Amino acid sequence: MGLLDWINRVLFKKPPDSALTLRRNDICWCGSGKKYKRCHEESDRKYFSSRNTSCTRST
Ligand SMILES: [Zn+2]
Repeated sequence: MGLLDWINRVLFKKPPDSALTLRRNDICWCGSGKKYKRCHEESDRKYFSSRNTSCTRST
């Protein structure tokens, strides 16, 4: 399970935008079969919040 998890992280570094519509008890988008809250919810939250702050007025 560790290896699979690692592969998922490397291949799917950025969560799809559909991750924003997932509920905590939904199955995670990464295909692990785990609930979202037990899988990518936290890392996705960090990813989306950092994307928001870093994208503000980059021009
Ligand atoms: Zn996941």
